[in-house]
Amino acid sequence: MTIASIQVEASTPKSGRITACRSCGGNHLDTILDLGNQPLANALLEPEQLGVLEPLFPLEVVLCQECGLLQVSEDVPPEILFGQDYPYFSSFIPALLAHSREHALDLIAERGLGADNLVVEIASNDGYLLKNFVEHGIPVLGIDPAGGPAKAAIEIGVPTVIDFFGKDVATKLVAEGKRASVMLANNVLAHVNDINYFVEGFAILLADDGIAEFEFPYVKDLIETCAFDTIYHEHFFYYSLAALEPLMGRHGLYLNDAKKLDIHGGSLRLRVSKTEGKSERLQKMQAEEDAMGLTGFDCYRDFGLRVSGIRDDLRKMLGAFREEGKTIAAYGAAAKGATLLNYADLPAGTISYVVDRNTHKVGKFMPGVRLPIRPVEELVTAPTDYLLILPWNFAEEIVAQQADYKKKGGTFLKAIPYPQEIEVG
Ligand SMILES: [Zn+2]
Repeated sequence: MTIASIQVEASTPKSGRITACRSCGGNHLDTILDLGNQPLANALLEPEQLGVLEPLFPLEVVLCQECGLLQVSEDVPPEILFGQDYPYFSSFIPALLAHSREHALDLIAERGLGADNLVVEIASNDGYLLKNFVEHGIPVLGIDPAGGPAKAAIEIGVPTVIDFFGKDVATKLVAEGKRASVMLANNVLAHVNDINYFVEGFAILLADDGIAEFEFPYVKDLIETCAFDTIYHEHFFYYSLAALEPLMGRHGLYLNDAKKLDIHGGSLRLRVSKTEGKSERLQKMQAEEDAMGLTGFDCYRDFGLRVSGIRDDLRKMLGAFREEGKTIAAYGAAAKGATLLNYADLPAGTISYVVDRNTHKVGKFMPGVRLPIRPVEELVTAPTDYLLILPWNFAEEIVAQQADYKKKGGTFLKAIPYPQEIEVG
């Protein structure tokens, strides 16, 4: 046993591998992809933390043979997973505000919402979505455990319960005489470990003629684009419609409709209610899942193989550049970059540094791989031969922003969907 491993054991609270599916309880879990032992992808390191090895947890994705739900195999303790207090306020993201407003106005018109209705949002943050209903005189209630954003919501007139939503909170609200005409939960379904307790809360609080809508990243996009760098310990689930149907059905909720959204690089908006009535659009999407094989094992196994292929090709490509004496930097000190770099496990010195436009990240280090984060200006003052763009889904935008790097003779690279040089027109 090395000194390093002793330090890890001393500082790492117990995490555990699940033995049964978090949704259906089935205990046939097939490993689809093993991304190795990884730090928490968002946990950037301060310089003084470099002397201590940070906690690493297995990052492995398994498929339940019974219900077809893709999920991470490890339960990282919540005090570690959500222990860092990110003062994240949704209202600072303009694209999200426009998206939310449109959604709210559509719902008001379609459902004929008014003063007699109640709209409840789970993970309501600073009230960025619910305030659109308040403006139209529709009663709302936000529920969010993050105190800072919740207080900001209350200040702008969005009543908010500061708590984790689930069966207990829903039961309490119903005892107070509340029932929801509309329930909304955006980007939270993947983050809740005890998913049955959570969904049961919807079944309890939703009025008999009400609807609930969930927005979440769609596993079909994950598989098609090979976006394995969106897999983190915090994302317990990667949902297909096929896997959602038994989960919702267990709590008396029916899948009625689904819609593809462009936000967050490919999401789905799912509508459920207490009565059966599947839209044609939803039936078509489920047929597409069947055709793609999302209900079986082979499609996922193929995904796992493609991912390890990307890693091998990236190692080869960057290794060849280093042999030629070329230098390489990376762009974007975000969670997806951390997942990719830690999985790639490149030889030390392959990548010199990571640049980021966010000045709060500069001076810190990427978790696990411990690459220094430098100001984006370094690409011009001390350019490397190559720049690996980690947020590959924004590659075009970043290439346009960093035109000066190109003028200095730099070449842009990306790793997904396969490692390549980016042609600049
Ligand atoms: Zn299952």
